[in-house]
Amino acid sequence: MALIVQKYGGSSVADAERIRTVAQRIAATRDKGDQVVVVVSAMGDTTDKLINLARQLSRQPDMRELDRLLSTGEIVSSTLLAMALHGMGYGAISLTGAQAGIRTDSTYSRARIQRIESQRVVRELEKGNIVIVAGFQGITEEMDVTTLGRGGSDTTAVALAASLGAEICQIYTDVDGVYTADPSLIPEAQTLSEIGYEEMLELASYGAKVVHPRAVELGELFNIPILVASSFTGSSGTLIHGGVSMEVRNKVRSIAHDFDVAKITVVGIPDHPGIAVAIFQPLSQADISIDTIVQNASINNITDLTFTVAESQLARAMEVVKPIAESIGARECASDSKLGKISIIGTGMQNVPGYAARMFWALSEQGINIQLITTSEIRITCIIDEARVEGAVRALHRAFELEIAE
Ligand code: ASP
Ligand code: MG
Repeated sequence: MALIVQKYGGSSVADAERIRTVAQRIAATRDKGDQVVVVVSAMGDTTDKLINLARQLSRQPDMRELDRLLSTGEIVSSTLLAMALHGMGYGAISLTGAQAGIRTDSTYSRARIQRIESQRVVRELEKGNIVIVAGFQGITEEMDVTTLGRGGSDTTAVALAASLGAEICQIYTDVDGVYTADPSLIPEAQTLSEIGYEEMLELASYGAKVVHPRAVELGELFNIPILVASSFTGSSGTLIHGGVSMEVRNKVRSIAHDFDVAKITVVGIPDHPGIAVAIFQPLSQADISIDTIVQNASINNITDLTFTVAESQLARAMEVVKPIAESIGARECASDSKLGKISIIGTGMQNVPGYAARMFWALSEQGINIQLITTSEIRITCIIDEARVEGAVRALHRAFELEIAE
């Protein structure tokens, strides 16, 4: 008898009918004799709707109240799923994050899990119950409800799998698994049958929406295999794990893209020690997360500094940076919100020359101008015009022959 954690995303539990379908899937797993812990997201776009409602009453809703409000979405779906299972004759119990012992720090809206006190979950499993945990939420030492950040139910699921010593964490969503590129842009994109943690972490961090990067990070840390599959089809999905074979590793595995990129350039800064900290410390204090940073080599002691943020953070970032730019004697501060990024990812490119050249060639052939380039050991990212992202993904998919099944 194995212990399996299954997570169902918002679209999989969007209405009563889908909740019934999910209940049948869970029942089928239970029928095989396995113990099942289920983590659910809120139904459909409930979380967005709740945020909207809060904003109608307050321009800046109190963070504690907002987290309590958002946590209700997952409570609704978990209780309904328990009822559906009861209706089918299965023992099931729903628990809030707090009842499931998910203890977090007190950073509202993006709390981190500190530990899981899993006695209650274990007790319910021993009674033979299917345990359904409301995802995306936890509780502080003060017993205040927190949420883990958008998409946080994936993190709940993998954290529970780690703490309970589950055999696998299965994440059910509305796509067939992890693809060589976003299938809504590239119809010939292939599903990958497996992928390593490091590759998946880069993919998720650079725009692939299929699993949350924090969940992948936890999976790697605790060596929990994560299966990503569709709750709508019978497809076998993609297994994210640590033992991916050498052969499969030896190429570009997938292309990630992200339309949500904005750039700020501080132009003509007198170059001396302390300018980077003068700019980035206030940004971090304002809780603005910075992605790519590029500083030019200075000419005559004058330099430019460019960095990217999410489009939604651009206005606030400019508010912070403009006065600083002035105070450090920079000539101007410019921004561009219409950017995107594309990344090729694969452990195969480690220590192998030629990948970067092939990427830049494929983009230049389309007449796509590269504004910034960043790399890791297993990733090359180019920042380009937002309008060119789709064409770039298509060109790269072709250039790296990803339409050919593995
Ligand atoms: N319901 C939350 C969200 O929409 C958490 C999740 O679905 O994972 O972000
Ligand atoms: Mg999600």
